[in-house]
Amino acid sequence: MTVTNLRWMALIISFLVLILGGLIGLDLGGFLPVYACPYVGQTRGGVCFLFRLQFILGVGSWEAFKALGEHLLYFSILVVLIGRAWCGWICPFGFLQDVLDLIRRKLHIGYIRFPERLRANLRCIKWIFFFIALLIPLWVAYPLLAPSVAGDLRQPFCQLCPGKYILPLIIGNPDSVAVDFKSATTITMTILGLTFSTIAIIGALLKRRFWCPYCPMGLLLSWYKKISFIKLKKDCQKCTMCEVCYNVCPVEIQQVFKERENEDVTFTDCTLCLRCVEYCPEDGALRATFLGKTIYKSTSKGFFSRQHIIPGVTDDQVIR
Ligand code: SF4
Ligand code: SF4
Repeated sequence: MTVTNLRWMALIISFLVLILGGLIGLDLGGFLPVYACPYVGQTRGGVCFLFRLQFILGVGSWEAFKALGEHLLYFSILVVLIGRAWCGWICPFGFLQDVLDLIRRKLHIGYIRFPERLRANLRCIKWIFFFIALLIPLWVAYPLLAPSVAGDLRQPFCQLCPGKYILPLIIGNPDSVAVDFKSATTITMTILGLTFSTIAIIGALLKRRFWCPYCPMGLLLSWYKKISFIKLKKDCQKCTMCEVCYNVCPVEIQQVFKERENEDVTFTDCTLCLRCVEYCPEDGALRATFLGKTIYKSTSKGFFSRQHIIPGVTDDQVIR
């Protein structure tokens, strides 16, 4: 079985467990480092870390801050175990984006790639979302100014998150995309959330993993990359700078083929999907390691066995 097929299998199982697992009584807790969105309702099999983080910060009591330590600890253990592989292999919203990408290919819709400079400039978006998730709940807890506005801003990132609108919708809950008319604040937040959701869906139909580089959860996960057990490594002596790894990378990381010195090539946006390892044509040029042991490496044999699906190795329209 190829890594791509294995990843699809993991994504499908994770989606079923995290979004529908509640139907069979599953509950994996409230500290999951993926968009396990509680707004899907009773069918949820676990809850996203950011949801409970905002709730705890918004309560603002001493007991709540003590719960924060425990919340962070469980989250950190999960992230150290497999790093951003949570994004590439488990996240339900990542799965949804991969499905939209599949539809794009079936419909022969062209693939767009942002220039590196634009990508760098857009990186601030995840920081904005991150501070919304962190700072507004503290204001909700201590609303010295505009308390009525603060009262309508509970779980502020959730109100903007495409997962809150799209994931319940695809399991048959159309209420998730209704505008909340409770106040001017809730109307504004819902409209912003629906706008981001529309951009995320259209974006995913034009670009692989469109949302991932702007995701605040991905930002949090990337902070653990130095201590995570899983790493992406490169043997710079074996690399021929063919750029295949860049062409197949869903989040368009160029540094993997450009790196000429360091062995560790687990870069900030990397979702550890391992497509670069799967498609790299040089024996052992790329490998994935777990606690320092190689668990998967590139082989010329593997590359040639997949050539029938990559007729032009530098053509990003055909390499998937
Ligand atoms: S695909 Fe492999 S050989 Fe080609 S640039 Fe990337 S790491 Fe180097
Ligand atoms: S660098 Fe490799 S493992 Fe990381 S996201 Fe790109 S293709 Fe996947």
